[in-house]
Amino acid sequence: MQALHRLTSLPRLVPRVVPSLIPRAAFSVSSVVNHKPNARKQLQGTGAVPQRTSTFHHFWLRDHCHCDQCYHPITRQRLVDTFTIPRDIQPVATDSTEEGLRLTWPDGHQSLYLWDWLHTHSYSPVLRSSEPLQGKLPKLWDVSIAKNLPTVEFEQVMETKEGLKEWLYQLETFGISFVENVPITIEATEQLGRRISFLRESHYSKGMWCVAADLSHADTAYTTLPLDAHTDNTYFTEPSGLQMFHKLEVDGTGGDSLFVDGFNVAEELKKLSPTAYRTLSNTRIPSHSAGDEDILIVPTPRGYPILNHGPDGQLFQVRYNNNDRSTVDHLSSSQLEEFYDALFLWSKILKDKKNELWNTLDPGRAVIFDNWRVLHGRAAFTGQRKLCGAYFPWDDYKSRARTVRMTPQDKDRLL
Ligand SMILES: [Zn+2]
Repeated sequence: MQALHRLTSLPRLVPRVVPSLIPRAAFSVSSVVNHKPNARKQLQGTGAVPQRTSTFHHFWLRDHCHCDQCYHPITRQRLVDTFTIPRDIQPVATDSTEEGLRLTWPDGHQSLYLWDWLHTHSYSPVLRSSEPLQGKLPKLWDVSIAKNLPTVEFEQVMETKEGLKEWLYQLETFGISFVENVPITIEATEQLGRRISFLRESHYSKGMWCVAADLSHADTAYTTLPLDAHTDNTYFTEPSGLQMFHKLEVDGTGGDSLFVDGFNVAEELKKLSPTAYRTLSNTRIPSHSAGDEDILIVPTPRGYPILNHGPDGQLFQVRYNNNDRSTVDHLSSSQLEEFYDALFLWSKILKDKKNELWNTLDPGRAVIFDNWRVLHGRAAFTGQRKLCGAYFPWDDYKSRARTVRMTPQDKDRLL
């Protein structure tokens, strides 16, 4: 049974109910100029002649009513009882208004669907040009980013919304941002971090941590050894989303910090060897954290690929720490060969000087970076140094990034 509504862009706001097509009805929305700015932007973004017709099931429309009875206006949670709606429901009256599509249902209930909202959530076909909650598109970088480091001022971030917004923009776009003129204390560094979200505790710390070469935890981070570029927490089911560093004391030489854009390395690998890229996207690698006596952490499931993609095929997470890799004993002989071949190529690109951003990270300059994208490491050092920092949960970082750049109206349109 066809139970659909059509949303079309025609010059006038006239509902077209075509008898031969009942119960499928066609509705027109105004020409592009009458769309709200966001929708207009999306329409224009689709190309020279964007398609402007989409159909909606009657049941879907009733199930997605956003009136106050069906959708809590404050909590933005569904209240409608999906399971009491007849599967063959059809509206008894329709009205195409300036604001949106108004439907009256057999029990007298009225629903209003804003044109912007219908456009954003169209599915047959999809009319939007980007996914509703897609983050900022990443700008890939190599060593040349050193000439123009993404940087913000501590005071700007702490005291203005614009500063915070710029900071999060840099993080979402480049996966890294440096903060200048941070007071050289653990307290100020913590306050800075909390502008984004609460901190993530781990077996290493209660929020803020301090690393010195004292093996206070059984991990190479607590030594003077060099560390190759890696992401942290490959042994967690969900690695921390962000990590922050601030060097508070230096007494010795060396110990510069290294950063590499993992998305850029992945892109290079894909161009160089699609086979290796596929292998690192499909091969699950077990990892663990087991240095401290009372700790034995492994992820669920037991292993994850180095390159993780969403259902849309987009790379969203790099997980790589060769030091934390567990015994690989689940691959066939040929898979093992393919895995090592791909791993060598990955490591070669990762260690290419043109991909490495080195920074002395002097006291007063903090850095925060996306641990799902940017790999970090350090050079060996002599003497002592004290580095403080924190982990942040991914979802809360992304939530903060969205809310600083969105209005409540954006929220209503996008959900
Ligand atoms: Zn309703």
